[in-house]
Amino acid sequence: MIIMKFGGTSVEDARAMKNVIDIVERERNRTPVVVVSAISGATNTLLSAAELALQGKIEEAVTSLNTLYERHVLILENLIDTRSTVQMLILDTRRRIDELKHLCQSIAVLGELTKRSLDAIASVGERLSSLIIVEGMKERGLPAELVDARKVIITDDQFTSAMPLFNYIEDTAKATIQPLLENKKIVVTQGFIGSTTKGITSTLGRGGSDYSAAILGSVLNAEEIQIWTDVDGVLTADPRIAPAAKKLKILSFKEASELAYFGARVLHPSTILPAVKKNIPVVVLNSQRPNASGTQIVANPPRSNVAVKAIASKKGITVINIQSMRMLMAYGFLESIFSVFGKHKTPVDLVCTSEVAVSLTIDNTSRLDQVVAGLEEFAEVTVYEQKAIVCIVGEQMHSTAGVADRIFRALSDINAMMISQGASEINMSLVINEQDVNEAVKRLHAEFFEPVPEMALFETIGEV
Ligand code: ADP
Ligand code: ASP
Ligand code: MG
Repeated sequence: MIIMKFGGTSVEDARAMKNVIDIVERERNRTPVVVVSAISGATNTLLSAAELALQGKIEEAVTSLNTLYERHVLILENLIDTRSTVQMLILDTRRRIDELKHLCQSIAVLGELTKRSLDAIASVGERLSSLIIVEGMKERGLPAELVDARKVIITDDQFTSAMPLFNYIEDTAKATIQPLLENKKIVVTQGFIGSTTKGITSTLGRGGSDYSAAILGSVLNAEEIQIWTDVDGVLTADPRIAPAAKKLKILSFKEASELAYFGARVLHPSTILPAVKKNIPVVVLNSQRPNASGTQIVANPPRSNVAVKAIASKKGITVINIQSMRMLMAYGFLESIFSVFGKHKTPVDLVCTSEVAVSLTIDNTSRLDQVVAGLEEFAEVTVYEQKAIVCIVGEQMHSTAGVADRIFRALSDINAMMISQGASEINMSLVINEQDVNEAVKRLHAEFFEPVPEMALFETIGEV
């Protein structure tokens, strides 16, 4: 069986949904499980409606929910011909939007918005889109069956960024999805959403539908995980920053996970791990150009002579500089630092150390004050905000001379606060000011990919 995940722009309107149905129909002999996102922009609209309600702007919240309702009605009316199905879907959509309005009203009255409520609200996007697409498939004559992801993707209760509980999911997926596949059904389910062991709706974090696809692929032993999106595959850089970006035909799990982690939005950072564990290839494809070959992400791609494969960047980074003379010749100092981050559940991305100082970066600042207070018990702490990471990735980088020189020449007048040659030896990361990041990516892209070093590995966007 295969997993086919369709992102927000792939289901943004009736035309896009028809496309999705065509693509799934082509693959129907491979036993697809279809994972769908909310229609593009829906999750943002839902979360901002909740925020508006919290600020007491209930009318604005209701207006944006009404617009969302109308977008769904327009899609389903243009996708589905059978009048009774259209009526049923309109009623269902109305009911869910009305529930949301009530929820927004209570948020406004109570003046409280918990992460748990945010997940309940955000989940409606995927629940609405999946409802429409499954009916569209049935009308096409496909044996589609909707499975509520909340019955399958069981998570912990860290609402808004819940972690999947694989022990449970192995069983739930086998109990709910496997029998349908054995009966030749095409299973359609929602990305992004799940539920706790107590049955409370949770989400895997923004962009989490990719992760849902990988989790299902792993527990169902898929032969392939397809991520259908709005670009040709994994590109040499974010095309919105470097318009000359080229598509990579193939890259390794390691390269893809570094890129995803350091900001290439095309894949959610956790996507690759379940695929790696079971060695399932991930293919990133363009739903607007389904005949293009996409990018293959595999364990061991053929060796190439190209040192740098892609550049990623991530804004909103905070640097914490920790200084202490006590560190000199002492042991246990790093342990005390990391135990503060551990205690406050704050992940650290990059670390650089000297004899008396440690610099590190975080992107989750929700507990920054507590972290700083904890560190100040034994060190001097300085915090620098509005920084960015630029990350240059390629498996042959460590064995190619001159890459660092090219990076620093390209960025000669851009100040780098931290430089880290990743321990995995496949990336080099620089911390720079946020306002310099687009310029840095453009220059690095020009240096390494314009013109592209080896056309066997890359493809111009738009080629079939
Ligand atoms: P979806 O809704 O299908 O999940 P996303 O918007 O989450 O799509 O991800 C696709 C977007 O990721 C692209 O439109 C592109 O702008 C952005 N992106 C950033 N870096 C890269 C990269 N290296 N390769 C491809 N796309 C990238
Ligand atoms: N709809 C969710 C989001 O916008 C999940 C996803 O699209 O992957 O974050
Ligand atoms: Mg995405």
